[in-house]
Amino acid sequence: MAALRSVSEDVVYLDHNSTTPLLPSVLEAMEPFWTSTFANPASAHRLGQRARQALGSARETVAAILDAHPEEVTFTSGATEANNLALLGLAGSSPGPLVCSSIEHPSITEPLAQLQRRGFKMATLPVDSFGVVCPSSLPPLLAGSPRVVTVMLANNETGAIQPVAELMHIIQQTPMTTEQPFFHCDAVQAVGKIPVSFRKLGVTSLSLSAHKFNGPRGIGALLVRSGTMLTPLFFGGHQQHGRRPGTEPVVLAIGLAKALEVAHQELSLRTRMVRQLRQRFLVQLRELALPMVLNGQEEGGLPNTLNLSFPGCDAATLLMKLDLGGVACSTGSACSSGSLLPSPVLQAMKSPPEVLNSAIRLSLSHLHSESEIDTAVSRIVKAVRQLRQGSL
Ligand code: PMP
Repeated sequence: MAALRSVSEDVVYLDHNSTTPLLPSVLEAMEPFWTSTFANPASAHRLGQRARQALGSARETVAAILDAHPEEVTFTSGATEANNLALLGLAGSSPGPLVCSSIEHPSITEPLAQLQRRGFKMATLPVDSFGVVCPSSLPPLLAGSPRVVTVMLANNETGAIQPVAELMHIIQQTPMTTEQPFFHCDAVQAVGKIPVSFRKLGVTSLSLSAHKFNGPRGIGALLVRSGTMLTPLFFGGHQQHGRRPGTEPVVLAIGLAKALEVAHQELSLRTRMVRQLRQRFLVQLRELALPMVLNGQEEGGLPNTLNLSFPGCDAATLLMKLDLGGVACSTGSACSSGSLLPSPVLQAMKSPPEVLNSAIRLSLSHLHSESEIDTAVSRIVKAVRQLRQGSL
């Protein structure tokens, strides 16, 4: 397994749910497609054909690993685009009811807000104190015949894995007077970290993003079940069956497929390693930094994610102190950090104010060494103690 190339000599990077470093083997797989196999995959000449074949084989790899059909894979610029394409493309033109969980990422909640401005009505599925959607809250909402239901597979802030297959089962078992709703699943934090089968989940569409599993930034994919009508976001070409027109970024698609392939091959080893590191982190912090609250599940969530509150510390100040002290982490979704608003995810979990205001997210990688984890622990303990003693 390739070693982590440090961002800077003395920073322990614990923000892998925000983004991950590109693996050398992924870079190597991409290399020829920048320079020699650079042609437009739509071109009829042999160079174009070569690029088209490479793109097709990247699509086949993604489909095989995620248990989908190659025709069901649409490459996008990332998961924000994939989520927008799914929600805006499935919702239909006339307003109707929609259902989402209370812990979705802004790339889901913002297009939903856009639909609400067009007259769509929104209902929300609550979560329990561990941040897991309560399946029993779905049947009453199905009575309103929603057009789209959207629930993520793993939460970016807490790592809580959501009962998506169970929710799909409830939908399938519920007699409806109208068509069954489409089900979109944002699987960005799950793909590459836990096994994901598009077929077994039974959802209509599923989004993923390469930079969350050591692939390049700027590419993701939307899987859409065969036969589903999806209105595109863009117009102006026939690429990808018109679902996502525009010249395909072959090199990035190769990178996505290679990163997914490596993650898939190493999944059980990575899981074991990262779970041990997470446990090492927790044990030491519980010894040295109490009071501390684990937001989310002790076990059973994403193996790399720890969301911790240190009552008595202000999260934004702690984050700044850690940044200066050599630990890069975040207060939750990178898209909302910088704002001092408390996390909507922890709010949905009904966390008390002292927990809400002192929460940080540490997201680990299989590439870390135990000594890096120990270094991070001692830096966090030092920062927490200083803040609790009132020194900035
Ligand atoms: N959904 C979730 C759950 C995420 O964590 C992220 C990345 N922060 C996204 C969607 C957006 O992905 P991208 O950066 O590829 O647009």
